[in-house]
Amino acid sequence: MTYTEAVLAQTAQRHRQVKIQLLPSTFDEQGRASQEQRLTCYLIDDCVALDAGSIALSLSDDQRNTVRDIIVTHPHMDHIATLPIFVDDLFGFLESPIRIHATEEVIDLLERDVFNWTVYPRFSELRNDHGRVMEYVPFRTGVEFQVAHLNVTAVNVNHIVPTVGMTVTDGKTTVAFSSDTAETEEFWKLVNKTAQIDALLIEASFPNAMAELAEASRHFTPESLQRELRKLNHNGLDILTVHLKPAYRERVTEELNALGIPKLKIMEPGRTYEW
Ligand SMILES: [Zn+2]
Ligand SMILES: [Zn+2]
Repeated sequence: MTYTEAVLAQTAQRHRQVKIQLLPSTFDEQGRASQEQRLTCYLIDDCVALDAGSIALSLSDDQRNTVRDIIVTHPHMDHIATLPIFVDDLFGFLESPIRIHATEEVIDLLERDVFNWTVYPRFSELRNDHGRVMEYVPFRTGVEFQVAHLNVTAVNVNHIVPTVGMTVTDGKTTVAFSSDTAETEEFWKLVNKTAQIDALLIEASFPNAMAELAEASRHFTPESLQRELRKLNHNGLDILTVHLKPAYRERVTEELNALGIPKLKIMEPGRTYEW
């Protein structure tokens, strides 16, 4: 059994639920995670990352040794900012490649705009003593695929670049992630046809007064989120709002709380959630 397998086996035994952490992107004077979310990266069960904004900044040493699968929803900087740094950090030590799971469209954009020998080296073509350091694993929307111990189904959402939302399940617990989106349809079809959803992580970026900018950049405000949630057919699940723009966090928080939606909370960076 390799070190990674041993840690994963231990993790599986300890945690029979799905464990999700929104990695912090900044820290206060005492080194505690600040509550503003500047980057997006969810760590699932200590081994799969969903987006990679803060991946190179906030993983523990143990997590750095176990995360080898990264799902990328879209190529906006807040979702991939430290992805190249993460691969760079591990370059000499990797015994198996870091796998980047994304649609072909997103992979093409990452190769064209990020790993293009100008912004950063094309890691998909580079090797260390053990072999390749990074490889792409393309997935198709609407077709379930496996990432580590998780089954994932992704669908297109409504953002200004190709972007997917998804459901992620370990067979017992299922969590839905909207990624960045405005009013959308496929995502709700996927969520509503899934027998059980334990938690929904959904974006609420701008305050209500900035509805025009939210619409132009394809994001939600608390008001448009409230309208959107009428499409949700499941009851009783936890709804965690994410992606609040740091500059408007207080206003968006007040407006979200004022909606009075049961079990809707703002997701706290750094905290571990289990379902
Ligand atoms: Zn985006
Ligand atoms: Zn974003």
